Amino acid sequence: MRGQNSLVRTLQTAVLSIIVPIFNEEEVLYEFYRRLSRALTSAHLDDVEILFINDGSTDKTLGLLLALAQTDARVQVLDLSRNFGKEAAMTAGLEHAAGDAAIIIDADLQDPPELIPQMVAAWRNGSDVVYMHRLSREKETWLKKTTAAAFYALMGRIGRFRVPENVGDFRLLSRRAIDALNRMPERTRFMKGLFAWIGFPAKQISYHRATRHAGTTKWNYWHLWNFAIEGITSFTVTPLKIASYVGVLTSLAALLYGGFVFTKTLISGDPVPGYPSLMVVIVFLGGLQLLALGIMGEYLGRMFIETKQRPLYLVNRHYKDMAQQRKLALVQDEGAR
Ligand code: UDP
Ligand code: MG
Repeated sequence: MRGQNSLVRTLQTAVLSIIVPIFNEEEVLYEFYRRLSRALTSAHLDDVEILFINDGSTDKTLGLLLALAQTDARVQVLDLSRNFGKEAAMTAGLEHAAGDAAIIIDADLQDPPELIPQMVAAWRNGSDVVYMHRLSREKETWLKKTTAAAFYALMGRIGRFRVPENVGDFRLLSRRAIDALNRMPERTRFMKGLFAWIGFPAKQISYHRATRHAGTTKWNYWHLWNFAIEGITSFTVTPLKIASYVGVLTSLAALLYGGFVFTKTLISGDPVPGYPSLMVVIVFLGGLQLLALGIMGEYLGRMFIETKQRPLYLVNRHYKDMAQQRKLALVQDEGAR
């Protein structure tokens, strides 16, 4: 059954995994769990595993999660050995999910859990990927909006596949989409690109993205800038080509200019010492060379990281079936007495 794409999925056999990467979210955790739980019950989604990936939280998050796991049999906690970042945490979640489909959702309630039934319905109708399109970015600054738009335009221009704009990690993936993602070994994980790269029938659902329920975002402009560079360099080598084309063009121009200076000296004799023009050329070429070196360096650095083949994350402990174990312990206690 699993791994195959039956066009219309049956209700009974399907198991749904909810993957929640979580890092220092003690303030929102309970409210998130409450809303998620309510959304699942009201849609009669009973065969569910809720997989929290604790990405090295330093606050009370882990304790709260374990308390949840003891009372709710659906809850599992994958405790990573330290903070590896959301992308690694999502990868860990996808690799540990046992469901026939998985939904990745943020814990800060920016992705409304109430949309899950709609996503599941789309999956049952044959979509392998259901990605959630954000309608509003109102609360975000002008700078963030324009830079994001420019980035997606650039990605769309250089790639063979389209990375959908205003789409985050909130999405549903079918089993074969999960398996496809799990086959990608790269260390530098630009998930948005990887999600788009796999293809498969996809459906878009639009929603209004809420602001954070509590706590603060872990992203700043420096992170976003690095994120953009990672996105571009892990999916295209076009910048390398641009560097070589610019090199060819400037050397051609230099050759022509050299010929011009040479003939001019032959004809009019005494050449005037051209300090300013010389400086301009030197500085310009110096800049170009540094740029080309920098671009090469970006790729070389990525190759360096890839060749080490380090694991993407390390698991401290996988807390599973805690509710059952607790019940069992209670029963044994009774028996002993
Ligand atoms: N997150 C994580 N590891 C990190 C940073 C964030 O697992 O290193 C989780 C975080 O707990 C939340 C989700 O990823 O559930 C989104 O994080 P955040 O709200 O900071 O990002 P934003 O919504 O601003 O993109
Ligand atoms: Mg958020």
